[in-house]
Amino acid sequence: MTGKTRKPATRLAHLGSDPARFAGAVNPPVFRASTILAPDLATYETDNRQRFEQGETVYGRFGTPTHRALEQALTELEGGADTLLYPSGLSAVVTALMTVLNSGDHLLMVDSVYGPTRKVCEGTLKRMGIATTYYDPTTSTEALKTLIRPETKAIFLESPGSMTFEMQDVPGLTATAKAAGLTVLMDNTWATPLHFQPLRHGVDLSIQAATKYIVGHADAMLGAVTANADWAKPLRATTYELGVCPGPDDAYLGLRGLRTMQVRLARHAETSLALARWLEQRPEVDRVLHPALPGAPGHAIWARDFTGSCGLFGVVLSRAYPRRAVGAMLDGLELFGIGSSWGGFESLAIACYPQSQRTVSRWEAPGPLLRLHAGLEDSGDLIADLDAGFQRLEEAAEAG
Ligand SMILES: *Cc1c(COP(=O)(O)O)cnc(C)c1O
Repeated sequence: MTGKTRKPATRLAHLGSDPARFAGAVNPPVFRASTILAPDLATYETDNRQRFEQGETVYGRFGTPTHRALEQALTELEGGADTLLYPSGLSAVVTALMTVLNSGDHLLMVDSVYGPTRKVCEGTLKRMGIATTYYDPTTSTEALKTLIRPETKAIFLESPGSMTFEMQDVPGLTATAKAAGLTVLMDNTWATPLHFQPLRHGVDLSIQAATKYIVGHADAMLGAVTANADWAKPLRATTYELGVCPGPDDAYLGLRGLRTMQVRLARHAETSLALARWLEQRPEVDRVLHPALPGAPGHAIWARDFTGSCGLFGVVLSRAYPRRAVGAMLDGLELFGIGSSWGGFESLAIACYPQSQRTVSRWEAPGPLLRLHAGLEDSGDLIADLDAGFQRLEEAAEAG
């Protein structure tokens, strides 16, 4: 039986593991190293790349066996040729873009993208002479074609969209992009490689904010990019040139998190759907933005392309509740924390303001948007917490 025919749960338990090499340790241990001594001058003077390709550890910045174990595990899961690790998800996004784009190039960026990714386009990329055009996340492939210019080099996807959870037609958009000779990048953080493999749908570079479900415990920052055969070497070269590398402790926490990712995700998904179904029925709720919820926007695409979901989803409130009322609701929650990021074991709730973060697609909603992360707590307890929250919301709204 080859590794590729085994089910994800089995692969997660064994990927990147090499006990015989590490004194029997089941998980490769943390290697703290900068200098790696060569046995002799001739070896030291051999080209780094050649030594690396022979599996040698060359220098701390190029990664230790701890890094390599997680890289290899993610390469297998994403179905790619190589994976590089980064000190954050955003650093993974930036390095992938810098690998692909040159001065004078034009980038197509989804309008519902993660906010800091948009900032990179408006900041560093613009300064370097790279122009960005945003496109509607639900754009048709025909409409996309009209945005492609002679200097368009790449298109960036994120599905579902940050905060607003629009599902993109990844196979359709990728086919159009490829026909026009574009390189395709995708932020795959929501699905993780367990529930969607972008490279199998024609994407060239798949990006993970491993800070979220791969680390899974809200205690480390980490990013990853998996490239197909065309982009594996340029990605490694750009990463080494830019000098970005996470510490070995964080790489270790990523591999350790990966071991339990399937059971955690199954529970996150089950709880988020239980909350979504309950929220759908509430008078304070206009709609629930959860692609795995039947009837929710984008559900058909989700059901066609993805094999699972996670704990993160959105809730649009039914009327223009004042900010003070939303504050009363969220501030009083006992189990949902108010904070950035997601993917840890704990539940989170924030208010989002999509209109301030998009330029070509309109965000229409009768009331405020909340983003919830269903953690690993009991779903009944979470629902009771939200129920009390809705009471505070209404009371504060009535108080005028
Ligand atoms: C959090 C996040 C990132 C950035 O990850 P960090 O590790 O916080 O830098 C990128 N993309 C998406 C979709 C995210 O949610």
